[in-house]
Amino acid sequence: MRSVDAHLAEILATVRPLAPLELELERALGTVLAEEVTSPVPLPPFDNSAMDGYAVRAVDVSAVPVTLPVIDDVAAGSDELRAVGPGHTVRIMTGAPVPAGADAVVPVEWTDGGTASVTIDRPVEVGNAIRRTGEDVQAGEVVLKPGTPIGPAQLGIIAGVGRRRVWVRPRPRVVVISTGAELVEPGSPLGPGQIWDSNSYTLTAAVRECGADGFRVGGVGDDPAVFLDQLDSQLVRADAIITSGGVSMGAYEPVKEALSPLGTVRFDKVAMQPGMPQGFGVLGEDQVPIFALPGNPVSSFVSFMLFVRPALDKMRGLPAAVPETVRAQVTGPLRSPDGRRSFLRGVLSADGSVSPVHGQGSHQLAALASANALIVVPENVTSVPAGAAVEVIRL
Ligand code: AMP
Ligand code: MG
Repeated sequence: MRSVDAHLAEILATVRPLAPLELELERALGTVLAEEVTSPVPLPPFDNSAMDGYAVRAVDVSAVPVTLPVIDDVAAGSDELRAVGPGHTVRIMTGAPVPAGADAVVPVEWTDGGTASVTIDRPVEVGNAIRRTGEDVQAGEVVLKPGTPIGPAQLGIIAGVGRRRVWVRPRPRVVVISTGAELVEPGSPLGPGQIWDSNSYTLTAAVRECGADGFRVGGVGDDPAVFLDQLDSQLVRADAIITSGGVSMGAYEPVKEALSPLGTVRFDKVAMQPGMPQGFGVLGEDQVPIFALPGNPVSSFVSFMLFVRPALDKMRGLPAAVPETVRAQVTGPLRSPDGRRSFLRGVLSADGSVSPVHGQGSHQLAALASANALIVVPENVTSVPAGAAVEVIRL
């Protein structure tokens, strides 16, 4: 049997970051920046008012109350500005350029709000409520570095420095295929011996949560030829493929039967529970990675978390994050097979305890859905007493 770490290491040595491409800003959310973004101008580009109020010379407002004539009105976007001479004031709005001569803005709340003249009740310091040119970003300054995931705020600053398009590593396109002659689409009635296909939903959703685009193909039966056909037609749009089922030791294992002869996908027993049978390799000229996960719903989900998620990180151009663990105190005893790393389903509480859920079978999807954590039991440990400290992966 191969260790979990060796299997992951091989996967990470094989998958590569996707090639960068230039995208319109509207399509860049969730991608990873592949260039240095700099600002061509300082931000703010000009001194402007931080508040609605009156632009003044601070010295004119040192003795209060004082009444000053209002000689102009400047809104945000104004470009014809009258200078503020001694003893004068200009009504100014947030974001409007500060007129020459003025060195402070008096907030409207400190005044009577007058439009022809204004009475000001509080003295003001030089620079008050003025946002200075370049105080956010200097001209030529780097605002984002390559490798930054693009969320709403990052998208905002790219737009804020005037860019329309940006070089990014795209969201990986991941095709999810379930195999199994017993599978029926949810929404259709079950016949004898049939179950509803849940894995393609779980795995496609997990893909999307990782910042990739998931394309759910659904169930393709158990015929290796049909499976290969489907794979062939999906390969053109895939940066990676995930299959579920058909990789164990029995008969009717379409994934194993179809892919083994190609010689580019290997099937291993990985020393873990759930999820022992695992396939991984590459397909076609473009060496598209394929993750052939076991069919049991808990097994395929745990396999995704351990192996596919870090691989998708790497494809996105991010450091491949192996699942982080936290320490918790287990509330009940645990059993684990010798020589295999177990990932038991548990509920992690705010008090730092974790309770194993009832139903630890690899088919018990409802138990998984009630859990929020995986309790990790190392290979060389076969039993853990209640109250012991354990490592836990948050879900
Ligand atoms: P396999 O890995 O194909 O031998 O499947 C192992 C177990 O997982 C069997 O009990 C299957 O019925 C079940 N299974 C396989 N694929 C799915 C799926 N897409 N959704 C739910 N259960 C599945
Ligand atoms: Mg099967």
